[in-house]
Amino acid sequence: MEKLIITIAPTGNVPTKELNPSTPITVDEIVEDIIRCRELGAAVAHIHVRDEEGKPTCDRELYKQVLDKLAEKKCEIITQVSTGARGGGNTSEWRGQMLDLNTDMASLSTGSSNFPNIVNANPFDLIKELAEKMYANNIKPELEAFDLGMIDNAKLLLKEGVLKGPLHFNLVMNVKGSAAGTPKNLLHMVECLPAGSTFNVSGIGPSQVTMLAMAILLGGHARTGLEDTLLYKKGVAATNAMLVERIARIAKELGREIATPDEAREILGLNKN
Ligand code: MG
Repeated sequence: MEKLIITIAPTGNVPTKELNPSTPITVDEIVEDIIRCRELGAAVAHIHVRDEEGKPTCDRELYKQVLDKLAEKKCEIITQVSTGARGGGNTSEWRGQMLDLNTDMASLSTGSSNFPNIVNANPFDLIKELAEKMYANNIKPELEAFDLGMIDNAKLLLKEGVLKGPLHFNLVMNVKGSAAGTPKNLLHMVECLPAGSTFNVSGIGPSQVTMLAMAILLGGHARTGLEDTLLYKKGVAATNAMLVERIARIAKELGREIATPDEAREILGLNKN
């Protein structure tokens, strides 16, 4: 089986120091956590940034600072910026303002759904505009599917030529408001992917270990980090390092080797560093 790509999603839009004191919020904290997680086996970093009040933002300048510092510190991790709907605005100009920076990948939701408190609004026009900007800048989208309909939308966009294959997905399981993180749901979503796709899995909250173990068994890839779960297990606060270590350990036990960033580039069809 192909080697396992571990993605670290250290910050997200929801975690705060109050919810988990280990949440990296400032540029330096984010960079430090990513470097540590790279040492522990992560090959991809899914990056969100926060403003000086700690609020989620799409601010290009902050993304630039994170990307520049990672390069400056010679961290060879594959970078993936977020274009998600909770970054403080909902136009493609706002959400895609960082897509001219030197990043390998960017997240792209291919449909709308509910988050616990707001709508995850991704109309077709916005998806198309973001996709266009990604391809124009040689950025590979990671298609975030929170339920089955988003996979069907991706297939439609592939047929229309908006998306270019082979596609790479992140199946985000167990977000409150979307598909529950059950083995049956995940298996069905994997079976519905277009032929030749690669996929990553996020297991939100208590679904973390079961969903990622399944991803490892099914030949998919695994995303972890405080964005996806604040707890390591019931009553124990997680750190990004603990979460990456656990996935690397489970993969080892299940006989799946861990991909280096160079190997992950090969698997994902990215340009050489
Ligand atoms: Mg995200």
